[in-house]
Amino acid sequence: MGKLSNPKETIEVIQKYEFAFQKKFGQNFLIDGRVLDKIIAAANVGPEDFVLEIGPGIGTMTQYLAEHAREVVAVEIDKKLIPILEDTLKEYDNVTIINEDILKFDINQLVQEKNQGKPIKVVANLPYYITTPIIMGLFENNVPIENITVMVQKEVADRMQVGPGSKDYGALSLAVQFYAQPYIVANVPPNCFMPRPGVGSAVIRLTRHKEKPVEVKDEALLFALIRAAFNQRRKTLQNAISNAGLGITKEQVLEALTKLNLSPTIRGEALNLKEFAALSDELTTK
Ligand code: SAM
Repeated sequence: MGKLSNPKETIEVIQKYEFAFQKKFGQNFLIDGRVLDKIIAAANVGPEDFVLEIGPGIGTMTQYLAEHAREVVAVEIDKKLIPILEDTLKEYDNVTIINEDILKFDINQLVQEKNQGKPIKVVANLPYYITTPIIMGLFENNVPIENITVMVQKEVADRMQVGPGSKDYGALSLAVQFYAQPYIVANVPPNCFMPRPGVGSAVIRLTRHKEKPVEVKDEALLFALIRAAFNQRRKTLQNAISNAGLGITKEQVLEALTKLNLSPTIRGEALNLKEFAALSDELTTK
């Protein structure tokens, strides 16, 4: 079997198996080898690495990963793709395919069993409708991870990377940057996929921080404040936080802002992660 990373081979496989693309699973397969080279290089996949691939499709990226990594586990939700993957990956003895929904799959257990709990690399061309739950799930469940290199909707990549002052800055930017250092590797146009998606895409690498950029007394409160601030983005922090059902009054927010030398009318979109952390500690009663 040749490399799948071109339109001809992809069409051959699709026709051989009479595969019907499923929109509900976000199936847009990569057909450009140059993009795959960039992903492998950015993830820095080498012969020591254990790689988890989320959503292998027909195995286009999996072939590249198998050639560079020590071991690859690919988790695919669509059972119709499993016989195809068994065929397209039969030449590789370092790949395991698992038919599961990644959102229900115990990745921590996999890392214990297959990599003795040591940090893994995650590589994926993600189904766009579940990009955020997948990435946040990996971080929040404390999966041992070195980096996550993923294809996402361009707009989402921008949101992960920006800081205060951009219209794209929001809860996702802060949540991602709390756990990792984002870096946009490449923008990828729709013609690199089959079928073509209706939006532009980008590859982003998230390198997990060895040490957290901020330490807070109560992480749950920090994230609750961030969510409250951006749920009501146009409101002042005083109003957004006191309306969020957190048991915090306007006066308490005002007092905290004053202590931190921040304007009483400031909005969440003007605060960076360090300032949110300081505000969170001021409002922690424990
Ligand atoms: N990696 C392939 C490529 O680059 O050509 C396919 C990428 S396609 C954008 C996304 C893949 O994720 C599809 O194969 C889809 O079936 C799979 N997928 C969608 N939701 C999933 C889930 N919850 N768990 C695991 N795989 C999923």
